[in-house]
Formats: sequence, structure tokens, C-alpha cells
Amino acid sequence: MMRFTSLERAGLGVAVISDKTDGDCGSRPEMRANVQAFLERSGRLPRRLVRLRQVHGNRVVEAGGLGDTPGMDPVEADGMFTDEPGIALGISVADCAPVMLYDPLRRVIAALHAGREGTLCNIAAAGVHALAERFACSPASLLAVVGPCAGPCCYEVSPECAERWRAAGLPACHRHLDLGTANRMQLEKAGLIRHNIEVVPHCTVCGGVFFSYRAGEISNRNLVVMML
Ligand SMILES: [Zn+2]
Repeated sequence: MMRFTSLERAGLGVAVISDKTDGDCGSRPEMRANVQAFLERSGRLPRRLVRLRQVHGNRVVEAGGLGDTPGMDPVEADGMFTDEPGIALGISVADCAPVMLYDPLRRVIAALHAGREGTLCNIAAAGVHALAERFACSPASLLAVVGPCAGPCCYEVSPECAERWRAAGLPACHRHLDLGTANRMQLEKAGLIRHNIEVVPHCTVCGGVFFSYRAGEISNRNLVVMML
């Protein structure tokens, strides 16, 4: 487990991501025991863990009311937010970037799933706008962490894909995409202050700590959990 200490030090209850030692924390029923043990190790059990059906888009939804009914299909979205203490926002990743937003003044949080497609459609800005609209958050007050993801060392894509990325104004070195920096840029453009954005310098593909789709762990997932 990695803790996002910059957020926790600023007063956020829990901000963590599971790693290989926590086991597969995907959303299938077989993974429930791993997820439960991971939540216990995080230090505070949530009243409810909300997860989404992530589809690499930029839809961001309010978590209140979601995940109340066991067995109900999760909502299709790639980001969610809440102002309710005890509601844990859960985002699954394996090389995609988790983006966490926290407003210590308004006491609200958002968790986003930003892979290549999500970043191309600027889910980072969608998350900032959702908090501004729903809770009147000022982007300049937001703290953000872009969590461990596929680094520019390993995120090689096709020439067409790299071209599409560059055409959107996002950073790439030849055919290697820089997902972390791209999300930092998008957060800054959405009004966040640069020193309030932390990009975790850890590549999930070559780092060996987290499950990595590109490194061959096709079905395993790391789980990001944020809770007020
Ligand atoms: Zn790497």
C-alpha cells in the first residue's frame, strides 16, 4: 500500500493505493476479501465503498446514493466526488493514472481514472469543474495528486496514437506518452496552483510494485481509495 501523505497531512482521512502485496483489488466478487483486508489496513473502515464501471470517458458523478444496493450494477463513469465523510471513493487502475482532488476548505473530494483516452478527453478538468459547480470550490484551493501510472519510460504507443496525443497539446517524447505530466498540465489549466499538484514519480510498468497491464497483468487491479 502506498499512502498519499500530502493529502492525509492536509486533513484528508484516507488516501491510499493498493499494490501487489495487497493482492488483486479488482471489482470481481472473488476479490472482495482482498479489498476488505486492504480497507482494514488503510486505518479506517468506510461506511460504504463506491466503485464505478470505468469506461475511459470523462463523466464525473456524485457518489452519494451510489453503491447503496448490493448486487446493483455500478454506474458508468470515470470519476466521482463527495462531501460525505465515511463514503470511500474507489478507482481501479493498472497503468492508468489515478487523479485525486481534495478541497481542505470545503471538505470535499474527487477521484478520477485518467488513462490515455480519459486524458485525451480531459477528465482532470471535468473533475475540477464538477467540484466547482456542485460545491463552489475554487480551483486555486484544490490539492491534487496524480498517482503512480505508466511512465514515459514505458508508455510506448503507435505513431498514430502519439500524433493524436500531441495534436491535443499533450506531452510525448517520440512515441512515449507522459501521462503524469499531461494530467498536471490539465489541472493547472483548470486553475490549480502548480505547487498544489503532486505527480508521483513512480512507473507502474517497470517499477515492479503495482499491478501493470502493460507488464502482463491483464486482469489484476490496484485500488485507489479516498475518504474524508
Ligand atoms: Zn517505466
